[in-house]
Amino acid sequence: MTSRPLLLVTGGSRGIGAAVCRKAAAQGYDLLVNYRSDKAAAEAVAAECQKSGAAADVVQADTATEEGIAAIFAAVDRRGRLDALVNNAGVVDVTARVEEFDRARLDRMFAVNVIGKIRCATEAVKRMSTKHGGQGGVIVNISSMAAVLGSSGQYVDYAAAKAAIDTFTVGLSREVASEGIRVNAVRPGIIDTDIHASGGLPNRARDLAPMVPMQRPGTADEVADSVLYLLSPQASYVTGAILNVSGGR
Ligand code: NAP
Repeated sequence: MTSRPLLLVTGGSRGIGAAVCRKAAAQGYDLLVNYRSDKAAAEAVAAECQKSGAAADVVQADTATEEGIAAIFAAVDRRGRLDALVNNAGVVDVTARVEEFDRARLDRMFAVNVIGKIRCATEAVKRMSTKHGGQGGVIVNISSMAAVLGSSGQYVDYAAAKAAIDTFTVGLSREVASEGIRVNAVRPGIIDTDIHASGGLPNRARDLAPMVPMQRPGTADEVADSVLYLLSPQASYVTGAILNVSGGR
């Protein structure tokens, strides 16, 4: 078995997740790169990680389904260890007011952004907790400033899902703090990734820049740096923390 710690990143094929994978590989982690639909993108991220010396595999799985969770953790178990989880996979929907929401939208929003993340954390805790014979570990949940700001007129359902992740982070951190597991979250602000196009607003990051105190969107790399800090031994006494990475927004 390699001595490099194994990091699982959900939604690692693009955006913030891909940036976390690349930086983690450069800092000495092995990687398991989960993706849902874009195999070529995930394999390209894994190839970059390998160039940094990491053992990096991809695993196709929808974190919103039990089949997906089973596939991810079967891949983890083939690797024989799990040291860290970045619970990153997340979606927005098209901009809409609450009267326009239907049940299918809410089911998907909460299945991916809340239940999928809690299921990944559950399976990670089973493998990491000293209570279950594990060696401990670290979990970083990717929340959003939407959890605080509410995203009125855009996607209050997404904001509510992210607020659930904030509360889950605090509660879980206390539940497993004495079992060798640290649990923290990062709240990105407006970050320049493809997620805005999937919400129907490809220019959102640039358009909203004047509303950001720092007058610009953030980059996926800037979010990844904060995630790598929370994963690292430099954050050994940090648990239950929620770090805003939002340019002051
Ligand atoms: P992105 O560029 O749209 O990338 C999303 C990633 O998640 C892709 O790798 C995608 O895989 C994967 N994914 C989506 N649904 C999935 C599922 N059900 N199962 C497995 N993988 C799934 O998004 P991003 O901007 O990097 O966002 C990453 C995280 O940061 C999300 O949790 C998001 O809510 C949060 N965030 C982003 C911003 C921002 O401004 N960008 C701000 C605050 C918070 P495929 O491409 O293979 O489908």
